[in-house]
Amino acid sequence: MNFHDSEKIMGILKREGYLPTDEPKKADLIIFNTCSIRKKPEEKLFSSLGRLKSLKRQKPSLKIAVCGCIAQQKGEELFKRAPHIDYIFGPQNIGKLSSILSLERGVFIRENPEIQYEELPADRVDGIRASVTVMYGCNNFCSYCVVPYTRGREVSRPLDRIISEISELVDQGYKEIQLLGQNVNSYRDGELDFSDLLRKINNIQGIERIRFITSHPRDLTEKLIKTMAELEKVCEHIHLPIQSGSDRILSLMNRGYSYEEYKGKVELLRTLIPDIAITTDIIAGFPSETEEDHYCTIRALEEMQYDGIFAFKYSPRPGTKAAEMPEQIPEEIKSRRLSEILKLQDAITLRKNAGLIGTIQEVLIEGRAETGHSTGRTRTNKIVLFNKDIPPGSIVKARIIQARIHSLLAEPL
Ligand code: SF4
Repeated sequence: MNFHDSEKIMGILKREGYLPTDEPKKADLIIFNTCSIRKKPEEKLFSSLGRLKSLKRQKPSLKIAVCGCIAQQKGEELFKRAPHIDYIFGPQNIGKLSSILSLERGVFIRENPEIQYEELPADRVDGIRASVTVMYGCNNFCSYCVVPYTRGREVSRPLDRIISEISELVDQGYKEIQLLGQNVNSYRDGELDFSDLLRKINNIQGIERIRFITSHPRDLTEKLIKTMAELEKVCEHIHLPIQSGSDRILSLMNRGYSYEEYKGKVELLRTLIPDIAITTDIIAGFPSETEEDHYCTIRALEEMQYDGIFAFKYSPRPGTKAAEMPEQIPEEIKSRRLSEILKLQDAITLRKNAGLIGTIQEVLIEGRAETGHSTGRTRTNKIVLFNKDIPPGSIVKARIIQARIHSLLAEPL
């Protein structure tokens, strides 16, 4: 979501006549698009801002802006910590960037209910896969998460605007569309829901693949799973964050489902879409998590057999309920639990990837990896490397010949 917000910022700046540069010394404007989902990105922001102090002294005309979730959350407070910042604006005010830049200095973090009507010109970095926002914000208030506070309540974009944006992207040659939303499954436009949106996009000529992120397990309906199974362009992959395998922790997290309910949805996905790859998010060491709760998560990993996970230590975020909960878990326990989770999952991922050796997969070529290999993704979102040079944008059938944890090696047929 942040990455695509940056593409929108680039699009607006391009329209205003700005050009990108990799050298801060040459810049007239430097914008930090920030994430506050964990503490680490915040620390990175302040050290980057610190490095710009002397540059700003040498070149007072340089403008520095902070946007994104940290800007939304901290607002005015950022000026106190880094007085050389000129502009602070939240994710809902990206559309106002041109008028913000016409002012000397300021904070722009008001909630903007008009956000769904803003058609912002994105300057997309990738030429093969295009991200398209279908909804903004979130209503779920998971107890550890800042998103409902920083990005506001859920607002779906009108369906006809999404369809016309995607039609333009197809004309520009994009092959894959990735629909974005904090909770895409709760998309609504009047009577139409996310399944209806997928069906309409599937009918657009020229699109090869449709993906979406992120799905909330509670809102993953039978109708949506059946639609995914039926539509040929919807890829066989879902990212379905479980966060914990313990019902007690899930309830403290305010996730709105039990482990058994989650498991039932995964079973239905695997019954109706047998080759589906499932990935997830895990938080290790949520407040009051016991060894027993932790082993519920370990058991969940063993039972779910995910294709991959994103696991992190719990990081208390100011303003959230979980940050105020008693029994915060010491760092060393969180680290140990996280490494147990990652170690187990690495073994599962490698075993699953090894099971693909000898199979034929459809791969959309995206470009070149740093190693020089041509690289692409299977429909199940696994990264595939080739020893041959294959033009980006091609869709090839390939035989998997080697498996690693994060990638597969293949030869084109
Ligand atoms: S559903 Fe996702 S974005 Fe919304 S509050 Fe929960 S974790 Fe945050």
